[in-house]
Amino acid sequence: MFAADFEYYRAGSVAEARELLAAHPGAKLLAGGHSLIPLLKLRLAAPAAVVDIGRIGELHGISNGGGALHIGALTTHAEIAASAAVNAGAEALAEAASQIGDPAVRNRGTIGGNVAHADPASDLPTVLAALGATFTVSGPDGERSLAAADFFQGMMATALGEHDILTAVNVPAAGSGSGSAYVKFSHPASRYAVVGAAAAVTGAGGTCAGASVAVGGATAVPVRCASVEAALAGRALSADAIAAAAAAAGSDFGDDLLGDVFASGEYRKAVAPVYVQRALTAAAERAG
Ligand SMILES: Cc1cc2nc3c(=O)[nH]c(=O)nc-3n(C[C@H](O)[C@H](O)[C@H](O)COP(=O)(O)OP(=O)(O)OC[C@H]3O[C@@H](n4cnc5c(N)ncnc54)[C@H](O)[C@@H]3O)c2cc1C
Repeated sequence: MFAADFEYYRAGSVAEARELLAAHPGAKLLAGGHSLIPLLKLRLAAPAAVVDIGRIGELHGISNGGGALHIGALTTHAEIAASAAVNAGAEALAEAASQIGDPAVRNRGTIGGNVAHADPASDLPTVLAALGATFTVSGPDGERSLAAADFFQGMMATALGEHDILTAVNVPAAGSGSGSAYVKFSHPASRYAVVGAAAAVTGAGGTCAGASVAVGGATAVPVRCASVEAALAGRALSADAIAAAAAAAGSDFGDDLLGDVFASGEYRKAVAPVYVQRALTAAAERAG
């Protein structure tokens, strides 16, 4: 199927993209196109104008500063997976990016497009929720920063307004004695997460000084598993303690479970503790 007609604009800067969005109400931003183009072709979206931000240099790249990794919105999944800085400071993010789709998707898809699209089966929202990432947004009133809990608002819904541009994702760099990991049960065709679990652990002398855990795929937005985190805090990072803590994962999900012909909501909830256990085990090993 072909997309409905639209006007195409290519922005050379964030400022120009914002001007184009203001001049063309309802316009959609185009980054890697791996979610937007299918929507246009299926006519699930039919904007009058598309603003291509794909060549804006200031939105590309990864830098390290102020204790955080700053990842430009146009940085591709392949670039994140290959980045030495991400592999050193946010292993779970590199691990998730390396498992997205296939090489074509990883070479075109961007972190900004991935989180702005906010598909519940996407990998990066889950990891970014567990790692305590913040999102830098350029909007009509200037720049603002949003925490993951405020950014992801529902099924394919974020805090981004019609005239907002996500410019960067900021991930606190892990200190020594910390480790993180991401594991997922992939859909066999698309590789999207049926269930994905991300964990970050800080350990001192084999004792858990802090853990953060998030699960995606089972609910509209990634769930922070406060029960698991509380059960592990202050405990020895043993296999038994991790298994006991992970068993609580489903209790944080609430009643609005996602299901489809491939996996029911109840199945996703039942299998999630297994993936949480695996993510915690890998994160604890990396924490040292
Ligand atoms: C076959 C296939 C398999 C896939 N498998 C996986 C998978 O296993 N795991 C996974 O996580 N993802 C998967 N994806 C999704 C992929 O990861 C892309 O990241 C995702 O499609 C969107 O990124 P994009 O850069 O292509 O964004 P686009 O398609 O260009 O844009 C997506 C949406 O985000 C908006 N947008 C884009 N950039 C910005 C910005 N900077 N600020 C504000 N809004 C913005 C656009 O307007 C649009 O609404 C898959 C995609 C395909 C086609």
